[in-house]
Amino acid sequence: MQFYSTRNKEDIVDFPTALFRGLAPDGGLYVPAEKADLKEVFNQFDSRTSFTDIAGQMIFSLLGSTFDRKQSFEIAKKAFPFSPVITGLKNDISILELYHGNSCAFKDYGASFLAQSMDTLLRNREEKAVILTATSGDTGSAVAQAFVGKENIDVVILYPSGRVSPLQEKQLTTLGGNIKALEVKGSFDDCQKMVKQAFVDRDITDRITLSSANSINLGRLIPQSFYYVWAYSRIRDAAPETVFAVPSGNFGNLTAGLYAQSWGLSISRFIAATNANDVIPKYIEEGLYNPMSSIPTISNAMDVGAPSNYERMTELFVGSVEKFREKISAFRVDDETTRETIKKVYNRENYVMCPHTAVGYRAAEMYQKEMGAQPVMVLSTAHPGKFTEVIEDVINIKPELPEELRKLEKLKKVSVIIDNTTEALKDYLLTTY
Ligand SMILES: *Cc1c(COP(=O)(O)O)cnc(C)c1O
Repeated sequence: MQFYSTRNKEDIVDFPTALFRGLAPDGGLYVPAEKADLKEVFNQFDSRTSFTDIAGQMIFSLLGSTFDRKQSFEIAKKAFPFSPVITGLKNDISILELYHGNSCAFKDYGASFLAQSMDTLLRNREEKAVILTATSGDTGSAVAQAFVGKENIDVVILYPSGRVSPLQEKQLTTLGGNIKALEVKGSFDDCQKMVKQAFVDRDITDRITLSSANSINLGRLIPQSFYYVWAYSRIRDAAPETVFAVPSGNFGNLTAGLYAQSWGLSISRFIAATNANDVIPKYIEEGLYNPMSSIPTISNAMDVGAPSNYERMTELFVGSVEKFREKISAFRVDDETTRETIKKVYNRENYVMCPHTAVGYRAAEMYQKEMGAQPVMVLSTAHPGKFTEVIEDVINIKPELPEELRKLEKLKKVSVIIDNTTEALKDYLLTTY
């Protein structure tokens, strides 16, 4: 499979190029240039096929021109020592738990595949690279976890000093080895600006192969299609056509589902669930796409006012809002309703959901109310233990932190404190590499 930029169809590249570039040089996002038909492949999977086998087969089917069969299955095995879990709840709603990875959020799937495929390619070429990334907290930890111990890649993560939660800071600063945490005396915006400037600084790029790992990278998007396929293999006898509810911010997760559907997976509809940041629900209702500044909510990983994957979706739907409406129903859920939903489901079924998952759950209920009772699978994007404050406030219990995160409390933070200037970052990079 080859890929082109959403802003220039002539810019056709192979997977490794898209992977190491991240963003296309024209500022566009890479999207599949061909229509793949994987129906035959999907039909081979049943409820006993492991997640790694599904992932390995899909990597080979999609990216066979880059990775041979053996490499594809090896990448899958190394990238995914974890697997999704389905929990059935009342009223025909089931939860696809995607938080059983290292940082306890679904972003582990994307980050882990990205790391593994970059490492495989670099080892083949006997090259090294440095991943440079800025984080406001959560996404950086999935990236850090995914790359730890990779021989040919170092990761330099910038984070704003004193502005990430203590748990997030531990996730970034305790891995050591090839993961370097730079604690910036400034804001997240400063961190982002410094990273951007480093990428265009010739003194740096002449000496160091820099790459990014941000969420728009194809290497993070493609593996997110694997769990839709896995989920379908588990439920297809009961529900030959599936509806997925996806708690969304940048819409990477939902876009990956749309790709799985376009490759032949039998998905009848997507429910786009947003918090107050409702640019996409508004677009589907009114036909006008109006990005805005983001509004802070309790499902904060979804506080996105200008979802980057709109550009990919609109490419897939050739700019037609009608085509959007054929595939996607959208609902917005406010903070109060999110809290009520966490409480209601906990009281009724003793099941604790993170605020993002609750937005998805509530949207599934709204859809069922509109369309009549039918099974919906809700993607659960994070472990509730990562959002103790909200959960404790709503249901008065402190959700247990998963073991992966509990063990961090005892580890010692190691960071390099730097000024919020490009010069400071340049100094660090040129003296370290
Ligand atoms: C990133 C994130 C989301 C939003 O996913 P997108 O792919 O950006 O739509 C939802 N929930 C959690 C917990 C996240 O970290």
